[in-house]
Amino acid sequence: MKTDRTIRREREQRNGRNAFAKNEPPRTYNKPSQTKKAKENIEAKTAGKTELKCTVKKKEETGKKIVTGEQAEKKRRVCPYEKKCGGCQYVHLPYKKQLERKQQREKALLGSFGKVQPIIGMKDPFHYRNKVHGVVATDRKGNGYTGIYEEKSHRIVRVDSCLIENEKADAIMQSVAGLMKSFKMRAYNEDTGYGFLRHILIRTGYHTGQIMVVLVTASPVFPSKNNFVKALRKLHPEITTIVANVNDRNTSMILGDKQQVLYGKGYIEDILCGKRFRISPKSFYQVNPVQTEILYDKAMEYAELTGKETVIDAYSGIGTIGMVASDRAKEVISVEVNGDAVRDAIANAKMNKIKNVHFYKADAGEFMVKMAAAGQKADVVFMDPPRAGSDRKFLNSLLRLKPRKVVYISCNPETLKRDLGYLTGNGYRVKKIQPVDMFPMTEGIETVSLLSR
Ligand code: SAH
Repeated sequence: MKTDRTIRREREQRNGRNAFAKNEPPRTYNKPSQTKKAKENIEAKTAGKTELKCTVKKKEETGKKIVTGEQAEKKRRVCPYEKKCGGCQYVHLPYKKQLERKQQREKALLGSFGKVQPIIGMKDPFHYRNKVHGVVATDRKGNGYTGIYEEKSHRIVRVDSCLIENEKADAIMQSVAGLMKSFKMRAYNEDTGYGFLRHILIRTGYHTGQIMVVLVTASPVFPSKNNFVKALRKLHPEITTIVANVNDRNTSMILGDKQQVLYGKGYIEDILCGKRFRISPKSFYQVNPVQTEILYDKAMEYAELTGKETVIDAYSGIGTIGMVASDRAKEVISVEVNGDAVRDAIANAKMNKIKNVHFYKADAGEFMVKMAAAGQKADVVFMDPPRAGSDRKFLNSLLRLKPRKVVYISCNPETLKRDLGYLTGNGYRVKKIQPVDMFPMTEGIETVSLLSR
C-alpha cells in the first residue's frame, strides 16, 4: 500500500513542485558580490537560534501599528493554497522552527555517523525558487488560468502566486494564461484529450536576470505562434527565450521529447560561483541559487583540492560542480545520464574556457565499473545523485577506485544514511556532515558530507 508520503510525493511530482525532484544547479569563489550574498545567509549557531532578517520591526501599510518580526513573518507565511497544494509541509511553522525540525531529523538519521553541523538557513526564505511550473486550465468562459492538481483528482486548483516561487515568473505565468482567451487557445483536458496548452514552465537566471518560458502543448501545430510570442513579449520584454515543447503522452512527466524554439536561444544562462552556465529546458539546475553557492562552497572546502588531483564529478548535470572544482584540480571527469544536460555541460566548459574537464554521457554506476575495471584512479569523488541515492554498482566501484576523499551531496537524508552506512562498513569514515536549507517551507533537506579512508 502506498503511504501518505508516497502519495503526496507523486502528486507533487505531477505538479512539478516537488522540491526534491532533483532535476535543476551553480557558484564562484571570492567574487565580491557573491561573497556578500553568501554572507547574507545566516549560519545558525544552533538551529534554534537562527536569526531572521524579518525580525526587524516594520511599519504596517494600513495603520501606524508596528508589527514585530515574528508577526510580520507569520503574515508572509499565510498561504491560501496550503491545504490543497501540500507542497509546503512546514509553512505553518516559523522559519526558526522549520530549521530546528530539519536539524532534529538530520541528527536522528545521520547522528550515528558523526556530528551534524548546524543547518545553514536563509536570510529571506521566501520566493527562492528559480523554476516555476503551472498546470493550465480554462474556465467556463474560456479564460485561461494555471494551478496545481488537487489531491487524488484531475481537478486543477487555481494558484495565482506562491510564497516560494520567483515572483516575476509567477506574473509571467499569469500573463500567458491571460492571453489564452483572445487567441482562442484552450487548455488541454487530460480526461477528454481535447485542448492545446498543458503546462507552463518558467526558469529564471538569478544573476543574469534571463528568463525562459516553456509552453508545453499537446500537439505540434502552434496556431498563431508568431503573434502569441509577440503579444507575450510586449507584456514582458524581460523574457529572453520562449520554447514550445510537445508532450502528447499521458504521463506525469511535464516535458515531452520534441521542442521548438519560438524566440531567443532556447536556453537561459546563470552565474554560479563565478562561472557561467547555460541551462536548457530539460537539464537539471538547482532550484535555490542563493543556497547552491553556499552548498558548493562547502563541497569545495571539504575537498581541499591542491591542483594535483584527478577528480570525478558523478551525476554532474550541466557540469556545475566539476567546473567549479576544475580551477583547483589537475583533471575532472564528469558523468551524467541526461543527454541534454551533457550537451549543456560541454558548451559550458567551452564558454568558460575550461580545458581540464571531460564529460561522459553514461549511467554513473556503469561508468564507474568500467573505470575500476580499467584500473583508473581518482583522488576525490564528488557525487550528487537524485533522491533515490546511489546504487551498489556505483558504490562498489567507488570502493575499488579508493579515492582519498568522497564528497557526497544529497537531497534525501534517508538514502544518504543508507549509502553512508554501506561506505562506512567498507573502510570509509564520515568526517563532516553539513545540512543546508535549500527548500524553506518544505520538509526537504540538502546535505553535504565528507568521507575519507
Ligand atoms: N550535480 C548537478 C546535478 C545534480 S542532480 C548539480 O548540482 O546541478 C542529479 C543528476 O543526476 C541529474 O542531472 C540527473 O539527470 C542525473 N542522473 C540521474 N540518474 C543518473 C545515473 N544513473 N547516472 C548518471 N546520472 C544520473
